[in-house]
Amino acid sequence: MPAAEIITIGTEILLGEILDTNARYLARSLREAGIDLYWKTTVGDNAGRIAQAIRQAVERSQIIITTGGLGPTVDDPTREAIALALGVETEFRPELWDQIQSRFRRFGRVPTENNRRQAYVPQGALAVENQVGTAPAFIMEVGQRAIIALPGVPREMEYLMQNAILPYLHKRYKLTAVIRTRTLHTAGVGESQIDDRIDDLERLSNPTVGLAAHSGQVDVRITAKADSERQAQELLQPVEAELRQRLGGWIYGADEETLEQVALRQVQLKGWSLAVIEAGLNGDLVRRLVAAPGPFRGGEVFSERPGPDEMVACIEAFRRTRQAEVGLGVAIYPAGEKQDVFLALITPDGIQTYTRPYGGPPEYASRWAYNHSLDLIRNL
Ligand code: ATP
Ligand code: MG
Repeated sequence: MPAAEIITIGTEILLGEILDTNARYLARSLREAGIDLYWKTTVGDNAGRIAQAIRQAVERSQIIITTGGLGPTVDDPTREAIALALGVETEFRPELWDQIQSRFRRFGRVPTENNRRQAYVPQGALAVENQVGTAPAFIMEVGQRAIIALPGVPREMEYLMQNAILPYLHKRYKLTAVIRTRTLHTAGVGESQIDDRIDDLERLSNPTVGLAAHSGQVDVRITAKADSERQAQELLQPVEAELRQRLGGWIYGADEETLEQVALRQVQLKGWSLAVIEAGLNGDLVRRLVAAPGPFRGGEVFSERPGPDEMVACIEAFRRTRQAEVGLGVAIYPAGEKQDVFLALITPDGIQTYTRPYGGPPEYASRWAYNHSLDLIRNL
């Protein structure tokens, strides 16, 4: 089973000017193809350092994918760097030059002498025609290894990865593995409480179980690697069942399901509908409810923050005008260094109010507050 490594090339990435979305795209594509990824590096536009990164990668990985630095200028050092790392020269490929010239002709432009640089590849490379841009990509095979150089422009990189590189990898490495994930979403519980209950499962090797916390919600991700779809599902299912047993009602959904969908489904199940007032949440709760299917009768976003008693009166009045059985009022109040989240829930069964202190990063207070309020609703 070959393992892959990604090297993204570009000083702009190191300077924080652009986000390295190419690495993310490649990581996901490799995961979906069942190829393990153990290393990811970013190097600036410097041939010596790129060559160093390539030499290191060749020692520990079979599939090395670079992006960027294939343009026509001297700042585009990838061709030279790969040649340098492998101790070969670059060579001119007339057929690549023909392809570049004919692309320019199609766009009614004339290639410059600089563009000729793009027709050079390291000696012995397999050239990969770039049908969506000018810089050709290439593959250097070194024993069982492959060094694959892709352009930096995301659209071109993605096109070549899908249409040329993945088919090449499947064929050359006879890839059969599939990697499948299942994500269980929880709410109303902290990461450490979950960790306490499932720490033995977090040490499994296939499938693996991992946690990701997002302000009031924790995701539990199960990832299985197998030779077939069926086998992957067979690995996932017992672990999912075990997690469901241990985490019970904390789990509100899986994969694409969202907390607002599940909350509104619960309101519907009761034969009720919901109206909401929020203060200090930037409209986030109302926006999420508007976007979800279900019996949502509307929301109001207050720019000022009425006190708790007034919030209760407002939500009661608003609920009546919208003819909703359930009224939810949520407000965030500053409380020294921290913030207090106030919740008022009115249902045909009565009225409940809560105040919960929130001490996390202020920019996540709103997310924390709406996750908590939606968690209340889903447990109606
Ligand atoms: P070109 O022929 O356009 O010069 P290239 O292969 O030389 O292509 P770069 O010059 O490194 O690629 O990058 C071209 C553009 O693609 C960058 O300006 C940037 O906007 C984008 N880009 C490059 N690398 C990445 C990356 N890792 N993630 C996201 N975008 C990237
Ligand atoms: Mg460039």
